[in-house]
Amino acid sequence: MKAMVLKNICNIKENETPLYLIDIPKPVSKDDEILVKVSTCGVCHTELDEIEGRTPPPKFPIILGHQVVGFVEEKGKNANKFNIGDRIGIAWIFSACGKCQYCLSGNENLCPDFKATGRDANGGYAEYMTVQEDFAYIIPDTFNDLEASPLLCAGAIGYRSLRLANIKDGQNIGLTGFGASAHLILKLLKYKYPKTQIYIFARSEKEREFSKELGAIWAGDTEEYSPEKLDSIIDTTPVWKPVVEALKNLKPGGRLVINAIRKEEIDKEYLLKLSYPTHLWEEKEIKSVANVSRLDVNEFLNIAAEMQMKPKVEEFCLKDANKALVELKMSKIRGAKVLRMN
Ligand SMILES: [Zn+2]
Ligand SMILES: [Zn+2]
Repeated sequence: MKAMVLKNICNIKENETPLYLIDIPKPVSKDDEILVKVSTCGVCHTELDEIEGRTPPPKFPIILGHQVVGFVEEKGKNANKFNIGDRIGIAWIFSACGKCQYCLSGNENLCPDFKATGRDANGGYAEYMTVQEDFAYIIPDTFNDLEASPLLCAGAIGYRSLRLANIKDGQNIGLTGFGASAHLILKLLKYKYPKTQIYIFARSEKEREFSKELGAIWAGDTEEYSPEKLDSIIDTTPVWKPVVEALKNLKPGGRLVINAIRKEEIDKEYLLKLSYPTHLWEEKEIKSVANVSRLDVNEFLNIAAEMQMKPKVEEFCLKDANKALVELKMSKIRGAKVLRMN
């Protein structure tokens, strides 16, 4: 099968072709696994974190990709949840131990033995992959393969961050950054919390305009003051400035949720601007989002189908994965980038 592999950590600005196209044997499913013929795989900012070493794969070479849509082609002898030919999705959670205090309390995303698809195990930048059947999801018919891919990460993690933001209908919520994930969160907010007013902080005028078209009540630059104080804010940016700037817009007792697996270091000195009275006092909280649980993925896929959420996608072929990643690094985003295998 054809696959795009990462052989070592590198800086994508210095090496614009970090992934190599190779031809390797198809993987074989273990007893509790399914072999999936991959149709599409989304390209995520987390892949940049893997390539550049902020969340490095433990071994190389590795096949990246954790927003996988494909068809069951073979089943291990104990795998009986799906039929051959079923269309399934695979998300960031590749496996968890199932026995620890986190797994047993529904927080398998925090399992010390959490394994991530496309980092700790080969992912979907390939024609085939294997996964335990319990970590695959039926994709609702509403979506074609391309549309379903970005839902599996940006969407599912966005859904989890919304859950952690703990809002009630009618409260004010802010989103800082307006890329693929925030765009899905906005749509989800409009659907689940119709009385909530949404405030957007984004650097680019185009993104601000776009957010207003989608229903934000106000959109300003990263460092602006929102016209109203906010009950919670979700940060979907890879950097620190938006975090510091957002905190001043929170109400007392408000919560900032950071929806990022890793933050970049480029503007870390911005944290020195953190002022305790302005940014943290009055019981303001900062909470991060770690990974996703299977419940997040399943619930989100169902809600997305119910609300007919169709993400805007931009298609690339597998061998152009490097091009998609470089464009993502340069923030050339015209919709969620998705690889199609053939
Ligand atoms: Zn992702
Ligand atoms: Zn566990």
